[in-house]
Amino acid sequence: MNRDQRFSFEFFPPKTDAGKEKLKLVSAELNALGPDFFSVTYGAGGSTRANTKDTVISMNAAGISTVPHLSFGNDDEQVILDLLREYKAAGISRIVALRGDVPSGMGAQRLIYAEELVQFIRDHTGDHFQLEVAAYPEVHPDAKGPENDIEFLKRKFDAGANSAITQYFYNVEAYFYFVEQCQKNGIDRPIYPGIMPITNYHNLARFSKSCGAEIPRWICQRLESFGNDSESVQEFGIEVVTQLCQRLLAEGAPGIHFYTMNQVEPNRQIWKNLGI
Ligand code: FAD
Repeated sequence: MNRDQRFSFEFFPPKTDAGKEKLKLVSAELNALGPDFFSVTYGAGGSTRANTKDTVISMNAAGISTVPHLSFGNDDEQVILDLLREYKAAGISRIVALRGDVPSGMGAQRLIYAEELVQFIRDHTGDHFQLEVAAYPEVHPDAKGPENDIEFLKRKFDAGANSAITQYFYNVEAYFYFVEQCQKNGIDRPIYPGIMPITNYHNLARFSKSCGAEIPRWICQRLESFGNDSESVQEFGIEVVTQLCQRLLAEGAPGIHFYTMNQVEPNRQIWKNLGI
C-alpha cells in the first residue's frame, strides 16, 4: 500500500475505569501499526465533554497522536472557545467538526450545523486546526436529497474545512459516485472513506438503520445464516471489509478511517491484510 495514503482509527470515550484501562491497551496495540492519528468521538449536547477531552489529552501525553470530535450541541460559544484553547495549548492541531446527534434521553436540544462550527473555529483560531467534516455517500438521513446534501458539504469546505471523512458504507460504488459528484460540484479536497468492520450483525443492522447506511442484501443474508456462530461472522466480516478497503485504495481513495468500536480486532487483522 502507498503510505501517501492516510490511515486513522476512531474511538469513543470510555465511561468507566475498566473501559479507560482497556482503551490504554487497545490504543497502544493499534498505535504500534503506525496510523496517522486517532480520533475520539463527542456526545452532542456535551454528554462526553470531559471524557472526550481527558481521553484525547491523556493519549497525546502517552505519545499517541489523537484528535477530538466536537459539536456545539446546546453549549454556548464560551464553552466551545474554552475547549479550543485547551486543545491548542495541549498541542492538538486537528478537529473533527460536526453537528452531532443528541443522544436519546437528553430531550430537545438545538442542533447547530457543522458549517457554523467550522466558521466559528476559523473565526477564533485562524488556521491553527486542520478541520475534518462528515460526508455521506449514501445521503444523510435528514437531507432533502443527494444534491442538497452535497451542497451543504460544499458549504462546510467553503467555510474552511480541509477534508471530509465519510459515514460507513459497504457499497464501494456509492463512495466513488459520491466523490465524482462532489468534484463536479467544485469540491476538490480529500474525502476519506470511513469503514466499519463487521463483528455483530444485530448491532450493525440496528445502527445502520438509524444512520442511513445500507448493508447490501448479500451481506445480510450471509450474516444471518451464521446465527450465533460469532467466529464465522468475524471471519466473513474480515474478508468482506478487507476486500472493500482493497478496492477503495486501489481505485484512488486517499486513505481510510476505521470505526474501531474500541477493539483491537478485527481492525488489526484488516490492516495486516491490506499490507499497510
Ligand atoms: P451537518 O453537516 O450540519 O448536516 C446535518 C444535516 O443537515 C444534513 O442532512 C445536511 O444536508 C443538512 N444541512 C447542513 N447544513 C445545513 C443548512 N445550513 N441548512 C439546512 N440543512 C443543512 N455524531 C456525534 O454525535 N458525535 C461524534 O463524535 C460523531 N462523529 C462522527 C464522525 C464521522 C466521520 C461521521 C461521518 C459522523 C459522525 N457523527 C458523530 C454523526 C453525525 O454527527 C451525524 O450524522 C449528524 O446527524 C450530522 O452531523 P454533520 O456534521 O454531518 O451535520
